[in-house]
Amino acid sequence: MPHRWGMVVDLDRCTGCEACVVACRAENNVPTVGEAEAARGRAIHWIRVERYVDGEFPDVRVKFLPVFCQHCDAAPCEPVCPTYASYHTADGLNAQVYNRCIGTRYCANACPYTVRFFNFFNPVWEKPLHLQLNPDVSVREVGVMEKCTFCVQRIKAAEIAAKAEDRPLRDGEVVPACAQACPSRALVFGDLNDPDSEASRLAGSHRATHLLGELGTQPKVFYLQREGGHDRQDREGDQ
Ligand code: SF4
Repeated sequence: MPHRWGMVVDLDRCTGCEACVVACRAENNVPTVGEAEAARGRAIHWIRVERYVDGEFPDVRVKFLPVFCQHCDAAPCEPVCPTYASYHTADGLNAQVYNRCIGTRYCANACPYTVRFFNFFNPVWEKPLHLQLNPDVSVREVGVMEKCTFCVQRIKAAEIAAKAEDRPLRDGEVVPACAQACPSRALVFGDLNDPDSEASRLAGSHRATHLLGELGTQPKVFYLQREGGHDRQDREGDQ
């Protein structure tokens, strides 16, 4: 059976530290556009952490919601692309073919999660920052849409290593940069077709919901709702 990659985000664990955001930028060569372009709404983030404030000062609670491409099974971005740059892979990823993209931005307009970004200019990495670019990830140029790939380069590297050793992929072998960096293990990535994977087990939790699930997009990202920080028994290793 092919893999079906998905992510589970435990909102009870997210502290809003944004280590995932920094890790994603470093791993995927996401450019920093600067203050002036950000003010024009041209900032690029493959993952962002939304903040919600509950209550009135001083009795205030802040909630955090990491948002990235939901890799929907019924992705609204795919049927609107005139060049099939946005398409579904056999293992369930919502892929973006950069050299097919002609920059109509129909996909970004169709996406209810606002996770697709358009390159308004060629990014520049001042020396010596060019040395930090990840050689496994292409640098996108002006006119191209981009977004989270679930670190597809890491998925492919793990698949090639497993094939070379003539064995199946193990659960936990593929870890996207955001999940690797998260200090509170709020992000769990895995194969949803494997009933024994941690991601699959958590996706079956009574706390699991979809972001804007009522739209029928069938995301492969599950959010575990907060329950006051007490309901932690569905995570292995918790006391
Ligand atoms: S690294 Fe983890 S805890 Fe920090 S903002 Fe991201 S998901 Fe939340």
